Amino acid sequence: MTEVTTVDLVVIGAGTAGLPAAIEAAGQGLRVAVIEKADRIGGTLWRSWAQLSAGGTSLQRGKGILDSPDLHFDDVMRISKNTADPTLVRLAVDHAPATLEWLMASGFDMDPDAPAVLHFHEPYLLPRTYWGRKAGESVLEVLAPAFEKACAGSVTLELGTELVTLRTSGVDQVEGVTVRRPDGTFHDIDARVVILTSGGYAGNPELFPQFTGGSPLAGPASPGADGSGIVAAVAAGARVRGQERFLPTYGGVLKSGSRWETVHLNDYPALTPQSRQPWEIHVNARGERFVAEDAPSVDDRENALLDQPDLKFWVVYDAAIRREAPALFPTWSEQALDRAFAGHSSFATAGDLRALADATGMDPGLLSRTVAAYNSAVVSGEDAFGRTHLPAPIAEAPFYAVLNHGSTLKSPAGLAVDGQLRVLGPEGPFNNLWAAGEVIGGSSLSGKSFVSGMSVTPALSFGRLLGRRAAGADTDPGSM
Ligand SMILES: Cc1cc2nc3c(=O)[nH]c(=O)nc-3n(C[C@H](O)[C@H](O)[C@H](O)COP(=O)(O)OP(=O)(O)OC[C@H]3O[C@@H](n4cnc5c(N)ncnc54)[C@H](O)[C@@H]3O)c2cc1C
Repeated sequence: MTEVTTVDLVVIGAGTAGLPAAIEAAGQGLRVAVIEKADRIGGTLWRSWAQLSAGGTSLQRGKGILDSPDLHFDDVMRISKNTADPTLVRLAVDHAPATLEWLMASGFDMDPDAPAVLHFHEPYLLPRTYWGRKAGESVLEVLAPAFEKACAGSVTLELGTELVTLRTSGVDQVEGVTVRRPDGTFHDIDARVVILTSGGYAGNPELFPQFTGGSPLAGPASPGADGSGIVAAVAAGARVRGQERFLPTYGGVLKSGSRWETVHLNDYPALTPQSRQPWEIHVNARGERFVAEDAPSVDDRENALLDQPDLKFWVVYDAAIRREAPALFPTWSEQALDRAFAGHSSFATAGDLRALADATGMDPGLLSRTVAAYNSAVVSGEDAFGRTHLPAPIAEAPFYAVLNHGSTLKSPAGLAVDGQLRVLGPEGPFNNLWAAGEVIGGSSLSGKSFVSGMSVTPALSFGRLLGRRAAGADTDPGSM
């Protein structure tokens, strides 16, 4: 017989959104069960850069930056070309300053250069991106002690335990969850409210194309981001949306031996022209250029990549560029690069362009013509793609090519929710099944783009908000 426990609230996933949800609910006196599949808390915060965004913080005011949630809202909608969900963006930007103030009041190790305008994603018009000195771990350093304190009180944490089924009654109510414990036994937990904070599916190469219009997965997400929470919710009648709003991040090299996992984001090649102007050319799997490599808009480069076969491109250069240019791989040693060119399947080198094409599967004639056209542009100063940074031809053997991918930092699709973050079922919202974080789809808050800080900040804010709502507490940003 299955053992049954009853609590006020079940939180599925002890990550970016789940931890604050449990902390807030426990602070209001609720009995909370936190179910976490991994053997430690933290979720994606162990990998994330965790850049945050908020308009109208004390830190901005102290630096003379005039900003507000309204300006933040307008900028998110501009960057996303109005493809983000305006109701959810409104909720997120209204709560973002309170979330930042709460982090800072809790000892967040803010980088002294924050806030700033950053260029890895399409930039905001104002400095409103913040980050900790230890990236995601700085956020975890705030959450973990508060969560530990909650666990000494009314929170029970079950590690190594996975949500298997959301048990429903009727079309708009959940009774609780069935979970599988590390010893393989099943356990029912009944609850007044279930909050799903189980993250996305950007670590599941099988599920990814099904939820993202057939696009292949490449990225640095944790394999724990397997979408199992979304699958369980769909089995209970929930709907998925956002499949069509996929836009890859420009670049990323696979880990040696992996067919989808990229190296850590810190170890990506430097392809952002605001940080390092390109000396190389970028060519698709056939050997053709497809974009001005120095186009200042990352959105333009990402959209150009979306049209390339398998979202792949090779960064092609020569011996002189390897010697003279600022490092393409700033965090890699020359020895590590030599090892990669000797044995990593995404790295190729050859004595001439035809052999390079053979090694990479490109069309030899096309690659030779592409390089010749680029070299003419270096001489004339007139590039067919409008590139203006043309420092040197690609002419000196050996030649190099590094395979890059359109990569994914956050899964675009996710569970449809209403403006109160209630999961939408077959006939409207579930009364007591709520969701926050990447499980509601990264595109809900960034649209078909990546808006700085608009994953981690809303995950924290919405987690806190739902934890309080479960206890009937005030969720007005002013009270949080
Ligand atoms: C390398 C990288 C860099 C990033 N940089 C940024 C950035 O700078 N700014 C930004 O805004 N966003 C960034 N993102 C995205 C952002 O970090 C994530 O969207 C966010 O952290 C996800 O939070 P979450 O709470 O939804 O999920 P997570 O933090 O992943 O937590 C989900 C938890 O649920 C658990 N879980 C999953 N399924 C189950 C199940 N069935 N049962 C029980 N537990 C389950 C998981 O083990 C995990 O612990 C980045 C992502 C990556 C990968």
